[in-house]
Amino acid sequence: MANVTRDFFIGLSNNKFLNDQAKRWGFRLGAEKFVAGTNIESVTNVVKKLNERGISCTIDNLGEYITEKSEAVAAKQELIKLLDKVHVEQLDCHISIKLTLLGLDIDRSFCMENAKEVLDVAKEYNIFVNFDMEDYSHYEQTLEALHQLRGIYPQIGTVIQSYLYRAEVDLEGLQDLRIRLVKGAYKETETVAYQLKEEIDRNFILLAKQRLLGDAFTSIATHDHHIINELKTFIAENKIDKNKFEFQMLYGFRTEMQYELAEAGYPFCTYIPFGTDWFAYFMRRLAERPQNLNLVLKDVFYTKEDRLKRGPIIAGAGALAISSAAIMWRRKGKREKEE
Ligand SMILES: Cc1cc2nc3c(=O)[nH]c(=O)nc-3n(C[C@H](O)[C@H](O)[C@H](O)COP(=O)(O)OP(=O)(O)OC[C@H]3O[C@@H](n4cnc5c(N)ncnc54)[C@H](O)[C@@H]3O)c2cc1C
Repeated sequence: MANVTRDFFIGLSNNKFLNDQAKRWGFRLGAEKFVAGTNIESVTNVVKKLNERGISCTIDNLGEYITEKSEAVAAKQELIKLLDKVHVEQLDCHISIKLTLLGLDIDRSFCMENAKEVLDVAKEYNIFVNFDMEDYSHYEQTLEALHQLRGIYPQIGTVIQSYLYRAEVDLEGLQDLRIRLVKGAYKETETVAYQLKEEIDRNFILLAKQRLLGDAFTSIATHDHHIINELKTFIAENKIDKNKFEFQMLYGFRTEMQYELAEAGYPFCTYIPFGTDWFAYFMRRLAERPQNLNLVLKDVFYTKEDRLKRGPIIAGAGALAISSAAIMWRRKGKREKEE
């Protein structure tokens, strides 16, 4: 059942029509709990408050799978404005970029030119830039871009996903780079990725320990308290220097635990998305944690005064019927193909 729910939300996250529509709706479905506003001012206000608590941040200008050059250019300009603001305000903060936002799906060299323009500004201000890792169809290209640019721009890094079989081998080639380690947020096939949570977790712990014993900086990005506790013990036993790692979590998730870790003296960084293109990001968060659905239901069915709304019940029932029909249709198609 958990896998069906996960697949359903990942499916929604990839739906271009819904993503486009969502940009027009503004924040809905409770997304504002996980997205720090639509503009640079709102996100940097959140950063300032977290910085006051000793928490560093990474900002993600939301948007991915861009298909129009004009959108990629606008995103690049927004990222440059963001870097200016981080620099002027001297925020304890770096930025995270998805290369598809800069046009990777349109034309690789166009994307690289955009990335370079952003990296030139980041280099001038000495601000670290992380290339977020997207689904497996963009994996090789992201690593290639990183290897191509790392000689010119020393302050870049990327993300390695522990669900990938090849994660350990790829990390060997990235031993001197700052890396964020995550479990992986996309739906990948068993030809490339572990499917069982236990295997993904085991690999995460193995890779995190390898990195902690190595020389380069590692961001341990998870909300999983079992893993965090095990790594805290490992860090203490091996006297790992606090300059070599940080814990990272997403904005709006386990906020109390984020504060506790920072107050306990662990280096901590919050990943903060902002922008109007929130739908895919939010659907992936629902896929990981269907409990977040209660926010959606509250937003759809209740007014601010906690009164039940009527219209959305009809719309919701309609959406549910359409979704169920779509799932049944897909299953039917799959069965027919197998037969
Ligand atoms: C900072 C950051 C950056 C990321 N960047 C990327 C990226 O570039 N590419 C990518 O593919 N993925 C990225 N991810 C997503 C990541 O791959 C996972 O999909 C996501 O973090 C969910 O896995 P998890 O490690 O948090 O643990 P899960 O396996 O989702 O959860 C493990 C356990 O932790 C507990 N738990 C988790 N969340 C909560 C909660 N909110 N409240 C209470 N208990 C909870 C529960 O007990 C749960 O069973 C990023 C994640 C983070 C935190």
